Amino acid sequence: MGLDLRADPITLTAALVDIPSESRHEQRIADEIESALRAQAPHFEVIRSGNAVLARTNLGRSSRVLLAGHTDTVPAADNVPSRRDGDLMYGCGTSDMKSGDAVFLHLAATIAEPAHDLTLVMYDCEEIESSANGLGRIERDLPAWLAADVAILGEPSGGFIEAGCQGTIRVVATAAGTRAHSARSWLGDNAIHKLGAVLDRLSRYQARSVDIDGCVYREGLSAVRIDGGIAGNVIPDAASVTINFRFAPDRSVEQAVAHVHEVLAGLDVTCETTDAAAGALPGLANPAAAALVAAAGGQVRAKYGWTDVSRFAALGIAAVNYGPGDPNLAHKVDEHVDITAITATTETLRAYLTA
Ligand SMILES: [Zn+2]
Repeated sequence: MGLDLRADPITLTAALVDIPSESRHEQRIADEIESALRAQAPHFEVIRSGNAVLARTNLGRSSRVLLAGHTDTVPAADNVPSRRDGDLMYGCGTSDMKSGDAVFLHLAATIAEPAHDLTLVMYDCEEIESSANGLGRIERDLPAWLAADVAILGEPSGGFIEAGCQGTIRVVATAAGTRAHSARSWLGDNAIHKLGAVLDRLSRYQARSVDIDGCVYREGLSAVRIDGGIAGNVIPDAASVTINFRFAPDRSVEQAVAHVHEVLAGLDVTCETTDAAAGALPGLANPAAAALVAAAGGQVRAKYGWTDVSRFAALGIAAVNYGPGDPNLAHKVDEHVDITAITATTETLRAYLTA
């Protein structure tokens, strides 16, 4: 007997956890998901992309919701198969993110008349280098399959809808001076001393908190490294401070760089941007996304760190993380999921997808 998608999603979570699927070893779990969808979700068109399984309805609805989950896990730590202890289910992938996969597969098989067309993407190789990521391959090979109004990733999010993310840049501010013997310091020009004014600006900086679609992004402008000095008796001719700016997604990278230059305006330093990644807007004003937020009782928060949500945001699709797992437990030896969260997430999404 293969996977029973109509079984309780708690049982289905255990069944998925009991199929080992470390990254690059997802063939068996993909085979089982594919055959279960073909047999138990006949209203879905099903295709395969390597070890990813894609399925979609073509009901002519006015909106489309994409449900995405990776099927791979980090290497197991003697924690497969799963085991139960009261309301907790332990095992590799219980939180990240086979409980989310189970919710999506169960809903696909049990909602005969969804209010939106549905696309299901169960993909491989999320836990390793991004060049191997199955979702990236699908984006290159089958871009039409990622079209949607809203994308929901079942990554562990502790019952919150996590949306958007902050951007980040690093700027190195360098001061130049004149080298001299410190016994005749008046002959030199101390580059380290010039950084004092930079640090003063940074420590007095008032960071913004920006509310976008109900998600609060708290910015931060921080010195994260300082370099300078030649020897104990030399006035240094160069010194630099590395500044990290975490910014709300209402600023572009260019605007963030311009802002750092503005903060340091008038100081005797030159600035170089060494690293930059754009943020992603939450996009929750989109009606299909707003309905999801309402179904979840308005439990939204800004996302910390990057996940594949950012890929969808870059495609202009409102994308969120929403899964029963606990993000703090991912990748841990005692990884587990609270089974009541699996039931709650299933019911919230069922209400949303059938409303
Ligand atoms: Zn994950």
